Amino acid sequence: MGEFALIEEVRRRCAIARDDVALGIGDDAALLQPRDGEELAVSMDTLVAGVHFPPGTAPFDIGWKALAVNLSDLAAMGAEPAWAMLALTLPSIDADWLAGFCDGFGALAREHRVALVGGDTTRGPLAITVTVHGFVPRGAALRRDGARAGDRIFVSGHPGDAAAGLACVLGATLPRAPSGDDREYLLQRLNRPVPRVSLGLALRGIAGAAIDVSDGLSQDLGHIGARSGLGAILRADRLPVSAPLARVGDVEQLLRWQLAGGDDYELCCAVPPERIAQARAAADRCGIAFTEIGTFDHGSGVRVVAADGSEIAAPRGGWEHFAA
Ligand code: ADP
Ligand code: MG
Repeated sequence: MGEFALIEEVRRRCAIARDDVALGIGDDAALLQPRDGEELAVSMDTLVAGVHFPPGTAPFDIGWKALAVNLSDLAAMGAEPAWAMLALTLPSIDADWLAGFCDGFGALAREHRVALVGGDTTRGPLAITVTVHGFVPRGAALRRDGARAGDRIFVSGHPGDAAAGLACVLGATLPRAPSGDDREYLLQRLNRPVPRVSLGLALRGIAGAAIDVSDGLSQDLGHIGARSGLGAILRADRLPVSAPLARVGDVEQLLRWQLAGGDDYELCCAVPPERIAQARAAADRCGIAFTEIGTFDHGSGVRVVAADGSEIAAPRGGWEHFAA
């Protein structure tokens, strides 16, 4: 298979019709029709083999995750996904790998009605870059800088699962060995993140600020604080724990996975106290767990505290490329 056959295969397997795509894959550029009165939310993320997924990850999971991490960024803005671009760098063309990749990418693309409208194909070490575009009514995006002192901190899902999944893949010794089912669950959370698109849309007009948690809850929460000029107080005892995660970790390890583990792709939001009931109802309608875990306050940085308010020496870090 050559480059052009590959592009045709990608087009065939990932094609989705949308009437706001005047011209998709096949010309020098795509022609897209943005909506009147809406802003275009645009985001890009790269997955590099050996950095963002371990060698041996199934091609389906790589395709799924390459789109999922991007849709997660749109979710965090409260944007409705529409279009994607895909830059594929491959060491060689393996038809089976490509079919698996496209099936994973295509499955999630269909779920969210995202049209793949173009991309680029090059030879080199395995890396995948996806750009996504979504719509948000003018001024309605969930930005990082909209938190206010007194806002409550909420998080979706169960942060830490994916980090425990990665520990399983890497053959790390867990405090307690997972059962077969628990291992499956944790691996699924690592390899098939579910972007919280419906929740992001439902929180428009309710949450003051949002971010998607990809590099560790504590670090990403700190980004909202920094952009909003606030500090954050995080209650360790309120962090939601999935049953499988609780079964494999001890207290210390759990906290490390929950606060500093990567790959969660959950949403972390600031909710003004008077809109908490509305926010909870919105999350319920989406069928997504949504837990209050702390408060924004004047100051800076993230403090992790126990139920009695005493500070906990908690894992600070998160994932950072080029960290010293
Ligand atoms: P050019 O050389 O003019 O940049 P290409 O041969 O790179 O054109 O691309 C031809 C068409 O195929 C374009 O519409 C481009 O967007 C699309 N395309 C190339 N690679 C991919 C890919 N990996 N996924 C989706 N579309 C692709
Ligand atoms: Mg090109």
